[in-house]
Amino acid sequence: MHSTPTVRVFLVGAGPGDPGLVTLRAAECLGRADLVLYDYLVNPQILALAPEKAERISLGRHGQGKLWSQQEINQKLVAEGRAGRTVVRLKGGDPAVFGRLPEEAHALAEARIPFEIVPGITAALAAASYAAIPLTDRDKASAVALVTGHEGDEKSGEAIDYAALARFPGTLVFYMGVTTATVWSQALMAGGRAGSTPAIIVRRVSWPQQHSIRCRLDEVAGLLDQTRPDKIRPPAIVIVGEVASVDPSLEWFNHRPLFGRKILVTRAADQAGVLRGRLAELGADVLVQPAIEIAPPEDWRPVDAALARLNEFHWVVFSSTNGVRSFMDRLWHFGDVRLIAHAKLAAIGPGTAAELALWKLKADLSPVEFRAEGLVEHLADALKCHTGPGQPRVLLIRASRGRETLGAGLSEAGALVEEVVAYQSTNVPHADPAVAKALAAGEIDWVTVTSSAIAKSLAALFGADLKKSKLASLSPVTSSTLRELGFEPAAEAKHYTMDGVTEAILAAEGSKPR
Ligand code: SAH
Repeated sequence: MHSTPTVRVFLVGAGPGDPGLVTLRAAECLGRADLVLYDYLVNPQILALAPEKAERISLGRHGQGKLWSQQEINQKLVAEGRAGRTVVRLKGGDPAVFGRLPEEAHALAEARIPFEIVPGITAALAAASYAAIPLTDRDKASAVALVTGHEGDEKSGEAIDYAALARFPGTLVFYMGVTTATVWSQALMAGGRAGSTPAIIVRRVSWPQQHSIRCRLDEVAGLLDQTRPDKIRPPAIVIVGEVASVDPSLEWFNHRPLFGRKILVTRAADQAGVLRGRLAELGADVLVQPAIEIAPPEDWRPVDAALARLNEFHWVVFSSTNGVRSFMDRLWHFGDVRLIAHAKLAAIGPGTAAELALWKLKADLSPVEFRAEGLVEHLADALKCHTGPGQPRVLLIRASRGRETLGAGLSEAGALVEEVVAYQSTNVPHADPAVAKALAAGEIDWVTVTSSAIAKSLAALFGADLKKSKLASLSPVTSSTLRELGFEPAAEAKHYTMDGVTEAILAAEGSKPR
């Protein structure tokens, strides 16, 4: 019997930058990678699709550290393929467009290592959509040519026939054409393309820094002149043809309401996603620096003891989404989720109620205002209706640190309160130096502050540098913590949720989401 060889080497296109533009197949391959070999143009956020334990190797770039030669890359692919590790060779854009695909595929084929090639969105296609320019057009262009502006040192083949290209009946898209713009644009004009042909230069397509300039063919070289103080650095792509003049008002990417704003999200790493995604979709350049870390409690025994007696409680009160997640996860693994069926459930605010809903549990009580006092008030009313013998018994699920208001308030309202610590929240000891530097330089427009614990940790991490950017606070409680620390929030959410924070920033920026 012989078994079908399993493919373990994947040559994968990573698209132009935005992680949303990788294919499902690329995400699948990355998800099972042991090793990722990536080009410097690949967005580091895409690497997060690989398991944490996967090894990640940058193949370097010109002039910065080690730059792997093509031969070294081929040898590495073969060696790892032989060793049976799952390898993703992640290439910018599409592997089959100016991507040295044949070299790598050949090396693998020769070594009889099975491989798969996963296409990606190439820069030309992304630039067209992201600058709202059609590459083909019924009247203006019935063909497209992808052209290299850089006939690299390694290219031994024929030189480009610019005269033929000049006559090409369609759109020309130049890759790697920044430093060589004078050569190719003049050659095209010498071949007969009119200097007045519309063109568009698009730099860093799909990145938060995307920048595009509309011009004419005879202006391209001047705009890309690398001696200018405001020079346009690679990577950029140049689209040349009548299509480049279509309606500029269709441009959508840089018209998004938060385009050009840099925003720092400070929630715990596994919770930053929603806010980050929302802000990025609105055009912001989002950095993430978790201010706190969420970890399991030091000791599960008190939680387990409470779980074993869950039917004794009249109410289970959750003071945060983390509390819901941690407690319910434990209950899930404890074995019988029906244990919680008899208790009424209270959530401190809408976010916590929404987390309960993910577990298909409906909060019996969830005040609109997100603060302990609000919950105490509502719950005190509800406790008055308690008819059973003895005091109403309340299980309060909380963090290792947090405000004591809730437990004290509930006891005062006549409840027998038992508190269990379902997770630990600790300050992150050090900030990423790049983030600290950007903040100190005043480059960050907004910092989101989505809890009092985060406010305190940020003050410890950044001190007075926090004053160099605007602070967007989740709620009046968070704002008052900020004020106690000496910081005045520039915006405060009306709804104490991540969407509320986003809306507060939009309102302060004077725009509404589209
Ligand atoms: N395989 C890649 C191209 C590699 S050649 C692809 O399919 O896109 C590198 C060139 O691609 C750069 O010099 C630039 O011209 C273009 N490029 C790649 N990513 C880009 C981006 N995000 N924005 C603009 N141009 C990009």
